Amino acid sequence: MDDAMVRIYIMGKEYKVPGNLTILTAMEYAGYKIKRGAGCREGFCGACATVYRFKDDYKLKADLACQTKVEDGMFLAQLPFVPAQMAIYDINKLKPVVGVFQELYPENFKCVSCNACTKACPQDIKVMDYIQAIVREDLARAADLSFDCIMCGLCAMRCPAEIAQYNVAILARRLYGKYLVPRAEHTKKRIEELDKGMWENEVRELMSISKEELKEKYTSRDREED
Ligand code: SF4
Ligand code: SF4
Repeated sequence: MDDAMVRIYIMGKEYKVPGNLTILTAMEYAGYKIKRGAGCREGFCGACATVYRFKDDYKLKADLACQTKVEDGMFLAQLPFVPAQMAIYDINKLKPVVGVFQELYPENFKCVSCNACTKACPQDIKVMDYIQAIVREDLARAADLSFDCIMCGLCAMRCPAEIAQYNVAILARRLYGKYLVPRAEHTKKRIEELDKGMWENEVRELMSISKEELKEKYTSRDREED
């Protein structure tokens, strides 16, 4: 049964916990106070990367502790932080070309196409594919494929080429967003109108209403069809 007690091992120590708990809540049930390595608890922030394996199974698995239920015989540990390489740059001085990645993240070009990163990703992102897209200078594809990355660091933990894929992907999305995405002309026009004060009354009205009214206005707004 789902809520029957299961036996798990946290940092090598044995505990019995209800089987309907997530790894995160099971750790708290066992008495651990999680100060680092937990955030939104909804699978969005990527702070609670966890690694585990089962007795007699050589495979090391990776996931988010807030999204994964405990199972009997789980040996687990939390990864509060992955100290991965992150390049420092001024995006205004870069160009959207592969040479930028060769300079800032040369390890990206040592990818051996093992796919370990994709297998580790709790977001089911095609990590290897976005790394390879960057190698081919296809920043649009890299930006698109990596869009749902939550920076948990699990891909980097498994990479034999020592690539911090998520930091490389951020550079790809920044370059794509700044230099390659077609500018939205209607947004530019609206900003000019705002600068001229044409929407002053509407802005004042929005600032004066309650949060609930604002929510209502937002959800009932006119929207373009997908
Ligand atoms: S791409 Fe890497 S850092 Fe991003 S969510 Fe997937 S495993 Fe986590
Ligand atoms: S784990 Fe590293 S080497 Fe393997 S496919 Fe992913 S980026 Fe390439």
